[in-house]
Amino acid sequence: NETSAAAAAAAAAVASGKSRSTMPLDYFIKNKLGVWCKSQNDQWELAKIKSTAGEEATVMIFNGNVIAKSTGELLPANPEILDGVDDLVELCYLNKPSVLHNLRYRYNRDVIYSKAGPVLLAFNPFKDVNIYGDDFVTAYKDKILDHPHVYAVADAAYNDMMRDGGNQSIIISGENGSGKTETAKYAMQYLASVGSQNDEMKCKLIKSSCILEAFGNAKTSRNCNSSRFGKLVDIHYNAEGTLTGASIQTYLLEKSRVSQICRGERSYHVFYQICAGAPPALKDMLNLKMSSEYKFLNQSGCLKINGIDDAQNYIMLVDAFDTLGISSQDQENVFQLLAAILWLGNISFAVTDQEEHVELVVDEASRSAARLMGCKMDELMVVLSTNKTHNMTEPLTLQQAADKRDALAASVYQSLFNWLVEEVSTSLKGDKQHTQHTISILDTCGFESLQKNSFQQLLINYADERLQQHFIRHLCKLEQEDYELEGIDWKKVMFEDNQECLDLFEKKPMGIISLLSEGSNSSKTEDDTFIDKIKRDLSYNTCFSCEKGAFRVRHYAREVQYDASGLLKQNRDTLQSDAIQLLSSCKKPLDRLSCGVMNQVQTTGQSVGAKFMDRLFKLIQQMENSKQHFIRCIKPNTKKVPGIYENDVVWEQLKCSQVMEIVQVSKSRYALCFTHQGFDSRFGCLLSKNSSCMDPLTASVAILKQHRIPTQMYQVGFTKLFFRGQVDVLENMRQVLE
Ligand code: ADP
Ligand code: MG
Repeated sequence: NETSAAAAAAAAAVASGKSRSTMPLDYFIKNKLGVWCKSQNDQWELAKIKSTAGEEATVMIFNGNVIAKSTGELLPANPEILDGVDDLVELCYLNKPSVLHNLRYRYNRDVIYSKAGPVLLAFNPFKDVNIYGDDFVTAYKDKILDHPHVYAVADAAYNDMMRDGGNQSIIISGENGSGKTETAKYAMQYLASVGSQNDEMKCKLIKSSCILEAFGNAKTSRNCNSSRFGKLVDIHYNAEGTLTGASIQTYLLEKSRVSQICRGERSYHVFYQICAGAPPALKDMLNLKMSSEYKFLNQSGCLKINGIDDAQNYIMLVDAFDTLGISSQDQENVFQLLAAILWLGNISFAVTDQEEHVELVVDEASRSAARLMGCKMDELMVVLSTNKTHNMTEPLTLQQAADKRDALAASVYQSLFNWLVEEVSTSLKGDKQHTQHTISILDTCGFESLQKNSFQQLLINYADERLQQHFIRHLCKLEQEDYELEGIDWKKVMFEDNQECLDLFEKKPMGIISLLSEGSNSSKTEDDTFIDKIKRDLSYNTCFSCEKGAFRVRHYAREVQYDASGLLKQNRDTLQSDAIQLLSSCKKPLDRLSCGVMNQVQTTGQSVGAKFMDRLFKLIQQMENSKQHFIRCIKPNTKKVPGIYENDVVWEQLKCSQVMEIVQVSKSRYALCFTHQGFDSRFGCLLSKNSSCMDPLTASVAILKQHRIPTQMYQVGFTKLFFRGQVDVLENMRQVLE
């Protein structure tokens, strides 16, 4: 289609720097100005032009080599004086090599934060960079430091909140492993310390991360501490700006990880922590063994993480529980359920007949699981080795029994997680009555493309796609639309829109989420009929293609192949009714947990995907009702190591988040905007004539003329005035009058 082709062409032009008119080569030669040229190994290198002949230039590269290049391939370099500027907006020439050079220059000096106009870019240093902690918090609070930093973003949010009285949100995006969760923690640390102190709440808030991470983070192939859930933390303040409390919402915990992990990855940290760190008396009570004894943990061949001390982290976890006021009885109950889950994983089945029907083996594993869950052994046996349908009891095959066991374990874990999040939120509730404003921090799972992608990735990547649109709309589109509507002169910056991909997910009834719901509601639909159906129904969408047993989605970040098997089942997410009954009849160590399980079951009217889409819309709504601050986290390399900056890896991420376009819009942005009415009522007092008889447009123009504001400083739209910078002159005069 025409607009996206134009957008792509414009983006390509911006990326290559060709949107500018051609460089005056003679001027570059005469003044010995630097240019970028591509070397043999396809990297951009700094060079000086020696001479030109027609379309060809002779250039000397930085290392002294002299080569011939077509003049069309040269891009202007910024003067050295601009090396490492804080904000990409300050660059004279905005082209790919200049942007990459600037960010590399900073990264090499451990300056991991930069601005791209309104967005904070945060490079993951993969090492300690010593720019955090109380001293830095104070320095940013007191404006002694004002370089780009996550603290500066948090500070701006806090100040905006205090000044304008509105809610704020800090939206952190970036690929998996790019540093979102760490960044969110630093933002939270700042926001807990700012304003006058509420030390108890501050301490609770900071330690809540430790609990969420123990239960919701795991080692993956990409990140040793990967969050396997999304979260929104709302931090509350009273009218004076003192912290009053907080609340936490979580999204999409990857519950399949409880029973299934890929090679080299781990399950949730907390399992290893209790195995390594629980005191002997507790271990005895829970019959807890080493992590290597449990199938759920040892299946991946990875039990330890370099540099992580699970036993030490157990102590930290208990400390965090204590700080948040979670009783020792509840703590013990939590650990008891974790042990029950581990033992469930060790339950085995014996084949009893030729049709491979099985019976649960009575051994240490099944006995421990039953005891820890508080149910009778024979009940557990019946539930795990048979199915009850229409009052008929059928024996299960080995695969069916194992699936049922795993589903039970995952369900217990999910309920436990939900229960904990509730407890933590309750503990952080604080003084709700006096809460006036909120600053929300959004930390998502982040775009993910694994070797095998399934339901979890599908939803994570859909959410990422939604947030991407929100990000781009907010930073490029809305503002430009406003300029257009107001009829002011504006050279439009084109950017790519991902609406087509969002349609693929969201359209009703012909979108992935709807079709999944439909398929999940009908017991007849199987994986292969489902793939046939989506192949037919979704072929209209250019972001979609089908393979055998799989389908591909062209996301804004990258194309991802999703495995269709198991999607319907995961979308249904129903525990069989006998298993539910078992769980609700158990003398479960956590009473309120059974409510959690029941809740999961009662809301089955809606599938997981449809429910998630609703929650996502609510989330975006909340963001839109607040002033938004954006942070984009960037991985400098894919090896997870410090000191390596890979141009291609960085560029891919900058390109996806359309950083060049955002900077371009910011470069020519009108910093300030008033409605004619608003301007008149604010500055009307500065008019020598009484403005009450003038219409707002006339009054506004009269104010500007009388005080000789240079015309290049502003533009007058149909209903609004736009200013390039601040209107300090007018503000000062106004204050004098007051
Ligand atoms: P994401 O949440 O985007 O998946 P994380 O925040 O978990 O990524 O970061 C991955 C890892 O990168 C962390 O475990 C940490 O080792 C490192 N890291 C990220 N940000 C920083 C930082 N600001 N300083 C030091 N290390 C960091
Ligand atoms: Mg994370």
